[in-house]
Amino acid sequence: MKPTLVLVGRPNVGKSTLFNRLTRSRDALVADIPGLTRDRHYGHGRVGDKPYLVMDTGGLEPVVKDGIMHAMALQSLQAIDEADKVLFIVDGRQGVTAQDKIIAEQLRRKDQKILLIVNKTEGMSAAVVTAEFYELGLGEPYAVSALHGDHVNELAALALAEFPEFEEAQNEHRYPKIAIVGRPNVGKSTLINALLGEERVIAFDQPGTTRDSIYIDFEQNNKHYTLIDTAGLRRRGKVKETVEKFSAIKTLQAVEDANVVVLVLDARSEISEQDAHIADFILQSGRALVVAVNKWDGLDGYQREVIKRELSRKLSFLGFAKLHYISALEGTGLQKLVLSVDQTYVAAMTDLSTPRLTRALHTAVEKHAPPRGGMSRPKLRYAHQGGSNPPLIVIHGSMLDHVPETYRRYLENFFREAFDLAGTPLRIEFKVGH
Ligand code: GDP
Ligand code: GDP
Repeated sequence: MKPTLVLVGRPNVGKSTLFNRLTRSRDALVADIPGLTRDRHYGHGRVGDKPYLVMDTGGLEPVVKDGIMHAMALQSLQAIDEADKVLFIVDGRQGVTAQDKIIAEQLRRKDQKILLIVNKTEGMSAAVVTAEFYELGLGEPYAVSALHGDHVNELAALALAEFPEFEEAQNEHRYPKIAIVGRPNVGKSTLINALLGEERVIAFDQPGTTRDSIYIDFEQNNKHYTLIDTAGLRRRGKVKETVEKFSAIKTLQAVEDANVVVLVLDARSEISEQDAHIADFILQSGRALVVAVNKWDGLDGYQREVIKRELSRKLSFLGFAKLHYISALEGTGLQKLVLSVDQTYVAAMTDLSTPRLTRALHTAVEKHAPPRGGMSRPKLRYAHQGGSNPPLIVIHGSMLDHVPETYRRYLENFFREAFDLAGTPLRIEFKVGH
């Protein structure tokens, strides 16, 4: 599992600026997809061979008017408990404030390692600017400038120092791993129970720590799968249901560890910001995706039309994904959903030979050549596959740095059709030859 860094601090200290810095490399991949949420809270980053997840707690919940006492809202406190490392950001230009002290006090009570980050220190002496922050009692402060990027890489390396390098164990698992994710009450547990039938064994009261998902092997039509259950176990048939707290980190980790993600939405409520954030994160992760619009039972034709229209407008950026209207409660649409999961898994894991890819590349270029960049036209010579889940297609040639984004999209769609890669994102990389 990739370590998760959680950013905390009062408003305006530079959390989202730092977040953007820490996730920059991966962000470029999804930067200009229309409809994506601008204001991002979850992201990926990498220093050297160490990938990590970052979560910005800023703006996770509406700002409480009486902000001092509620310096940190519930969701942030939960994220802190579940983090691998907490980065507490303060403002070097403002010095220690009352709100910083309150947050520090809450953090000191936690059984968590905190890294104290003094931001906005460009052009200042680190020793001088950090001196007063020792009083927060969180150890040695570390000076950065998120805006200028000063010491941000070193900071990431420091935050990850004790975590081992990541090895790609993703495909060693025997069965396709399917994560069922979505915000609370969309019907994840009901769906999982419906998929598992009556066989589900309810063995524990306590599903481990709050951030761990539960892995359940199941079989359907002689195929094996492992479901990653982010909703947590519920005792069926008991009056008392365990109350689920939505865990963003659990969701992020589950998405990362899955081959295919089933994003569950609730047909009876509007697509919310939380839905959009989760969708955005799935997209960034590159995982294959099937969308399940749940609670489709009991709606009339008119309501269904309205919902369909809203979904296609708001989810246009998930265009590559298959979408199913289901009722987890009544068990309708589930067979087709599982079929799509199968197809999507096959697409995500596809293995394309260099000759096949190169032939397709040449056909694509014949149909529609890349536009000239300056004096010369990019030459696309051959393609090979550089990875799977998501499939990565590496194109070799010359002048490839002149290939515009629109042409990259054209190729992506071309390959998607040529090789029937529905349901999985596709990455295209241009290898600039010399
Ligand atoms: P958040 O509310 O904690 O997420 O803070 P933001 O990232 O939105 O930053 C608040 C303000 O501080 C913005 O105007 C940023 O441009 C500015 N800011 C962030 N980092 C730095 C920095 O390293 N140096 C300076 N001078 N300003 C910064
Ligand atoms: P979770 O928090 O995402 O795991 O959601 P649950 O599975 O606990 O479901 C939340 C509520 O929605 C429960 O009251 C379910 O009975 C109800 N529910 C789940 N699926 C459906 C469905 O397909 N149709 C209807 N009408 N209600 C559903």
